[in-house]
Amino acid sequence: METLRINFQLEEEATAWDKGEKGLLTGPDLWHAGRYSRSGTYRAADLSNLARAYVDESMRVNEADFLGTARLRDRCRGCGENYRSENLLICLECSMERCGACASRFERNDHGDPVCPYCGGILA
Ligand SMILES: [Zn+2]
Ligand SMILES: [Zn+2]
Repeated sequence: METLRINFQLEEEATAWDKGEKGLLTGPDLWHAGRYSRSGTYRAADLSNLARAYVDESMRVNEADFLGTARLRDRCRGCGENYRSENLLICLECSMERCGACASRFERNDHGDPVCPYCGGILA
């Protein structure tokens, strides 16, 4: 059972979305949720069907937004190399970015995701 902040956030936002009080995920929120949805932790997380539907629908409708972010370039905060954002892992709690080589030195949780050494969040 994961107690990540992103889980609470997604449950809250999905409930608001279901009531028509909130739109689908966009921008950085979509980027985080989309990355998260591809991680082992997400697959194992105790998320409601509504929260998963919210992420899936956001990814489907706002895919161009997600892919636009994926093409941006950013710097690995570990080694300083430049990468496309899609090739960097991002901490879902503190937004720290690391390339695969740097993240491979981090501990992994039970679901195989690298764990942020600074805040304990997962990198996805
Ligand atoms: Zn690096
Ligand atoms: Zn972190």
